Amino acid sequence: MYIVRRLTHGRAVENGKRGQVLFLHVWRSDSRLRQTTQARMSPGTTVFGRCNKRIVLATSSKGFKASLFLVLSGISVLYLFFYDDYTNLFKKTRKIANNELARIHVINVSRDLPTRNSSSAPVRKADIPQRQQPAGMKQTPIYTQHNAGKGGLKPQQVQKNPKECTFPNTDPFDPGVKKIVKTYPSLDCSTNTANVVFLENDIFRVNRSKLSLVLSPGQNFSHCWCKEVGMLNGSDKGFEFRNTTEQFKESMSLKPWQENVVAECFDSSKTVISRSYFPLIRKRVETELRQSKNYRKYIATNSPLETLSIFMIGIDGMSKQNFERAMPRTRNFLLDKMGAIELYKYNKLAFETFPNVLALLTGHTPEEFYRDWHYNRTEFVDQINEAFLWSEARKIGYRTGMILDCYDITAFHYQKKGFKVSPVDYYQRPTVIASSRDKLMRGDNPNCVGDMPEVTQVHDYWLQMARTFGSNRTTPFFAYSFAARLTHDESDFASKGDDAYFKFLNDLMATDSLNNTVILWFSDHGPRFGPIRESYHGRIETSTPYLFFIFPPWFYDKYPKLISTLKVNQNRLASHFDVYETLKDLLYFTNETLKRTPGTVKDRGISLFREIPIERTCANGGIPGEFCACGRVSKVLLRPSLLHQLSVALLKKLNSFIGFGVSDNHSLKLKESLQEEIPSNKSTREGSTRNSSLSTAIGNLGNNSKIMSTQRDQKLPCARLSLLGMVSLYYITNDQLRSSKVKSYRVTIRTTPGLGLFEGLVNYESGKEAQVVGDVVRLNMYRGQADCVHDPWLRQFCFCVRTA
Ligand SMILES: [Zn+2]
Repeated sequence: MYIVRRLTHGRAVENGKRGQVLFLHVWRSDSRLRQTTQARMSPGTTVFGRCNKRIVLATSSKGFKASLFLVLSGISVLYLFFYDDYTNLFKKTRKIANNELARIHVINVSRDLPTRNSSSAPVRKADIPQRQQPAGMKQTPIYTQHNAGKGGLKPQQVQKNPKECTFPNTDPFDPGVKKIVKTYPSLDCSTNTANVVFLENDIFRVNRSKLSLVLSPGQNFSHCWCKEVGMLNGSDKGFEFRNTTEQFKESMSLKPWQENVVAECFDSSKTVISRSYFPLIRKRVETELRQSKNYRKYIATNSPLETLSIFMIGIDGMSKQNFERAMPRTRNFLLDKMGAIELYKYNKLAFETFPNVLALLTGHTPEEFYRDWHYNRTEFVDQINEAFLWSEARKIGYRTGMILDCYDITAFHYQKKGFKVSPVDYYQRPTVIASSRDKLMRGDNPNCVGDMPEVTQVHDYWLQMARTFGSNRTTPFFAYSFAARLTHDESDFASKGDDAYFKFLNDLMATDSLNNTVILWFSDHGPRFGPIRESYHGRIETSTPYLFFIFPPWFYDKYPKLISTLKVNQNRLASHFDVYETLKDLLYFTNETLKRTPGTVKDRGISLFREIPIERTCANGGIPGEFCACGRVSKVLLRPSLLHQLSVALLKKLNSFIGFGVSDNHSLKLKESLQEEIPSNKSTREGSTRNSSLSTAIGNLGNNSKIMSTQRDQKLPCARLSLLGMVSLYYITNDQLRSSKVKSYRVTIRTTPGLGLFEGLVNYESGKEAQVVGDVVRLNMYRGQADCVHDPWLRQFCFCVRTA
């Protein structure tokens, strides 16, 4: 494939207008010689339209002689996007100056590119780059530039199918967002207590150069010893230290059975001066015997074409826009070096982590488990462990692993008991808990374990998994990780981890193990709280987590039809349900996988190896209406009586959750200043006026009123909420549902006591009462307000007036 390495420009006159002609210096990325080709772009490009600082261009030229003819002046930064057709992005952005941001999309540039410096040269087959051929299992993967592009969002298409879901146009770098978000320097743990012991070739060694960092004046180093860390019986939250080893001053060998180890060091007054934690992946005889047997049985009965290892690497609460803003090094590495394929219309399913990752890992909603499995969320998650992908993987001979930081707020532990029996072969939870509770090593920086970033602990664990099992296709693994520490409270903190993740990916590629591994690089949902969430962009970003697939380099050539279908689906509405189906296809990769027929609107989850229908709606995909990102979002002016109706409808709903009826006697104060967050992008304002004739609605989709109704009867010790005012109001226009007479509004109100900020989707039809659709979410924190209520969902609505 080709990379635009350099842009030069000159002046030209076209139809009497002055402008610039750009020359693209194109580089064949599959050539190790890095030959540079220059393709001249002749004038003649049509400006299709522009919006904000985004200019959409198209060209009628065939082949790679497309040109940009800019009738614009004052643009000093250009980003170019090239497509091999209307959907598949293959290249590239290029910055040529530093002052002003502009984006230019060139579409309909043929993929058959001449390599000569002539716009009229015929395309010769030899000029078309050849992909890396399937390599032997031990060959180092070489990823080519087959799909790269830096557009965080698929740009809005010029010719849109009216039946198609369109996500609102959000620029991750819009000035309105940049005012709100912050970028932080890399994690620095150097001021924390140093980790004195390190592991090298299965030998624990004392790093004497660090001793001076941890010894108090007048004290000398005495010795270290190791202890194993184990879980307390019957608990997934308690741990204990066991089996203290002999003392050592220099080094000690790791024992074959040791997997969770802490090395503890003392000074001459017998005070602990440092602890180093080691969650280790070791080949176990019994696990290998069992899984080898399972693998052979699976091969014999199913004759799979591939047994690909799977890495699911997740970060909590990251929108695709935030990933682009906060982790550019990591993201560019995924796209440019690892050939990642991003889903552009990926929509979350629920507000919080648990239901989102549950869908990703089981293909089901919590309600379905309550109903069909009699799952009780106050009991151990073991009840439904069979439904998780790692259990499927284990049955067919995969080694399974999981590591979750923030041990007390993971999807399986926040107000839940976790797992009574380790759900996977390699869980390593004892070390995570013990290191999290270690005041000496945590210091004041919660992102550090000693002088090491906590995310590095997770990364190191996966590197071990890759090195231990990754290079052999007969020992596939399924590994799930989810890192919440960095981003749970504040999504901007992701920028602190960019360098660590970038280094991890570099190290992972160097393990030589990715030739049989698919990586799913994902988040569960966008930001839930904070200033960004209260902005126009945050209201959209909350629904659009990032998701990338990374396949082994040979996979693209061996299975071109699957990849081309996946690329079509990059621009189709998709959710965690679809990715679950895709992961199942990857786990059971047989001839059947290659024969997949297109999905239909009746399918809630569609493997991305089947084409997703273009007309799919959120309702089709099981995406609740209140979280649906399809449509356009615009500000709207309404008559005061309607504003009142919308606000009170939401307030009534809130009070009903906590056991109150509500009177209509609430004064309404609309804060005018809070409607100024929409960017000056005309396309997002369509349908925003009072005269709009569009009548549409998201509809009552995926309403979880079932849960709500079961809890509404409870007598709760909560204050009745009153309205302080409407904070914001947005009108949702969804062309897919154009026929409806119902209008949809995203309404945010502030209530008292407790100054809660609540957002809900409210439908209104002339002459009828306004209706709140689906879930209502709280946008600000409520720590300390709801301690009298234990139900995790109800807590957000409760301001305690007495103890429960
Ligand atoms: Zn989450």
